[in-house]
Amino acid sequence: MASGKGGTGKTTIAVNLALYLAETNKVALFDLDVEEPNDNLFLQCSMVHYLHVDILRPMVNTTACTYCGLCANLCEFNALAVLPQQVMIFSELCHGCGLCTLACPTNAITEKSHRLGTIEKNKNHLSNISENLSFYEGTLRVGEALATPIIREMKKIAFKETTDHIILDLPPGSACPVIEALSGTDFVILVTEPTPAGEHDLKIAIEVVKKLKIPFGIVNNRSNVGDNRIIRLVEKNEYNLLSEIPHDNEILYLYSHGLPLIGSSKKFDSIFGKLWKHIWQARN
Ligand code: SF4
Ligand code: SF4
Repeated sequence: MASGKGGTGKTTIAVNLALYLAETNKVALFDLDVEEPNDNLFLQCSMVHYLHVDILRPMVNTTACTYCGLCANLCEFNALAVLPQQVMIFSELCHGCGLCTLACPTNAITEKSHRLGTIEKNKNHLSNISENLSFYEGTLRVGEALATPIIREMKKIAFKETTDHIILDLPPGSACPVIEALSGTDFVILVTEPTPAGEHDLKIAIEVVKKLKIPFGIVNNRSNVGDNRIIRLVEKNEYNLLSEIPHDNEILYLYSHGLPLIGSSKKFDSIFGKLWKHIWQARN
């Protein structure tokens, strides 16, 4: 589940599709929007600690360092700068790849573990979906900028899950964390809205999934609020339109009260049932 921009309703679609499928299937939902995870606002599961995500970052022993500059030259993330008598480390840029440690000719670099964030798993289950939903939430520590290692760890967990369906709720946009989250997936649901910004960001997201050669379909959310630009785009390019979900005051009410759509009214079962049918057809 992806969207070129935030605020299109991606979380609403991800959570409610998971709840719809969990009525009859085993489902694992992963909130990969680790900078701002919010799926659980609507699930309200009690969460328990599952995994810490740490990376190793370099420390330089100035006695052993000859200030040769090799480490800085090799670091593709510009996380090191070597001055005549100082090695500067820009920790927030370091991806913990370990190359500088391996390459240092005087073994002046050692590594120190650094916590990036945590992964939690649901402890309880919503009563109306019994035991069918597993839910994982990743959280990047405040002040950290590196989301990809947490997403990578969550995907390792996802691909080991014994379940009928795995739904990944991606971060918005099309930067590195999104690319990391998309790799290895078998279908992408792009959620958009019929506004100039929605269309602009959808086009970028489509280019990304096309480059990664992942099949995709589009959900036009709040379809009755903007104009028909998304439909024009879909028709012109023969994209797969999975669903049009009109703006509805009941959705707004449920959203503002942190309540899922599934379980509140049969009409939402029908909307997500049709969406799932179209996803299934597009994947087969
Ligand atoms: S590679 Fe090693 S010796 Fe050279 S500047 Fe970096 S830490 Fe110092
Ligand atoms: S561990 Fe990798 S990313 Fe970090 S400073 Fe060393 S070479 Fe750069």
